[in-house]
Amino acid sequence: MTFAKISHPLGSAPSLALRQPKWKTRFCCAKLHSLVLGFGLICSNASGETYDVLIRGGQLFDGTGSPWRCADVAIVGERIVEVGPIAADATAKQVIDARGKYVTPGFIDSHSHAAPGILDPKLAAAEPILYQGITTVMINPDGGGPAELLPQLAAIDKQTPGVNVVPLIGHNAVRIAVMGYENRAPKPDELDRMKNYVRAAMELGAFGFSSGPFYTPGKYSKTAEIIELAKVAAKFPGAFYTSHIRDESNYDVGLIKAIDEVIEISEAAKMPGVVTHIKALGPAMWGKSAEAIEHIEAARARGLEIWADQYAYTASGTSLQASLVPGWVQEGGIAAQTARLTNSEQRSGIRKEMLTNLERRGGAHSIMIRLYKADHSLEGKRLDEIARDKVQEPIDTAIDLLVKGGAAIISFNMGDKDLDAFMRQPWTMTCTDGALVPLDQGSEHPRAYGAFPRKLRRYAMERGVITVEQAVHTSSGLTASVFGIKDRGFIRPGAFADVLVIDPATVGDVATYEKPAAYATGMVYVFVNGHLAIANGKVTNERFGRVLLRNKRD
Ligand SMILES: [Zn+2]
Repeated sequence: MTFAKISHPLGSAPSLALRQPKWKTRFCCAKLHSLVLGFGLICSNASGETYDVLIRGGQLFDGTGSPWRCADVAIVGERIVEVGPIAADATAKQVIDARGKYVTPGFIDSHSHAAPGILDPKLAAAEPILYQGITTVMINPDGGGPAELLPQLAAIDKQTPGVNVVPLIGHNAVRIAVMGYENRAPKPDELDRMKNYVRAAMELGAFGFSSGPFYTPGKYSKTAEIIELAKVAAKFPGAFYTSHIRDESNYDVGLIKAIDEVIEISEAAKMPGVVTHIKALGPAMWGKSAEAIEHIEAARARGLEIWADQYAYTASGTSLQASLVPGWVQEGGIAAQTARLTNSEQRSGIRKEMLTNLERRGGAHSIMIRLYKADHSLEGKRLDEIARDKVQEPIDTAIDLLVKGGAAIISFNMGDKDLDAFMRQPWTMTCTDGALVPLDQGSEHPRAYGAFPRKLRRYAMERGVITVEQAVHTSSGLTASVFGIKDRGFIRPGAFADVLVIDPATVGDVATYEKPAAYATGMVYVFVNGHLAIANGKVTNERFGRVLLRNKRD
């Protein structure tokens, strides 16, 4: 298998000498800029440089969280070479007038399920992702993905993806490879084999270790097992641990203890820990954000690097199985689960447990069927509505759906106050948790189409929950720093030219729960590795992403 195109971050060091701005006076703010333009005096330092791209006069949010400033941005090849006032007589193959526009780093999605989609040639351009301004996605979250990364990464590389791809190695993936869906601790030789998978993936260039002990078979693991595997990943510089925590609600250990588990693993393995898509799930948990934040703050105060990411929706997306079926019923995989669900002796006991889980998630109306292969006509309907039509109890409808292959769901289970509270934390990054599906398959969660512009528009620009600077920082520079994604996430000389020109008048999400398949608006130009993936608000249908591998510096 060839793997030639995958480039190591250090393997393509810039050949360009980094240029310092020659003229440091701040002269290019939007109003002044247009004024001086009238006199033909724009920022003249008479250097006469020639660039590939010059983005002129935009409001620069550089990804650090610092207040925006007016600055020009110059690109040569795949890198940014200059930021600041750039001489009026400088020329470029392409000059973009960004006056009145935001200029920001390309966004980084720290939790993406886009990998299977990117492998489909029709979806490899990743249009719904680009229209959000996302230029880099982190794949294999929740402990998912393959146990061996090489075939996956080679296949993605072969497609030339529309966005950059950062691989993780997943705990569930390596557990399935070694132990299937067995509900027990690994034997020593099994643990060793799991370690070997993690080590091989990290050696290949995975950036970190992901887990999802909410899902089977991760659910069957004890903390000690995850620590052992996390320690293997932690030997690699810049590695981190990111987890869909064991319980975001009160299923078993509860939200707070599940966050504590991330902290414990992070501390024991000596690497940063991330509570991914942080939330307080279910009415019984609403208001718990305060305690969750306290626990993370306390850990940070002890010097631990604990972070979170989040998508700004009060509904999550998951499977009917994971949200309702007890772990013991899932043992051994789907066939074994179906056998238990259809066994008349076991059914009533299981039904009782599932009723509790349904209540936990807010009842039958709080569940919307997103994808149900056995009958697409049910998609978009709520569980209570379907049950009414079938004249049965919602829990029996749920069991029927599970027996007929299961369903992906949207689960309305979060409160706005918790969502806002988590977003306000300086340690909370942005993610989509979205998949990449054909546009005519309108069954994805709207987060897959709108999470990043939504945060910017609704939470920063309109409601002021956070500043625009913070929204950009937590969607780019912070994420690059936490996950060790070298030379991305910031607008600065030497960085890769993943750059957005955003129209603040039109940026926003369009996707809704009822009609999720709708591109976000407001991305006027999107550069991926110095090339235009979106120009004048439209995808260019060329693909410029690449698989990124972890910086292997010693
Ligand atoms: Zn998840």
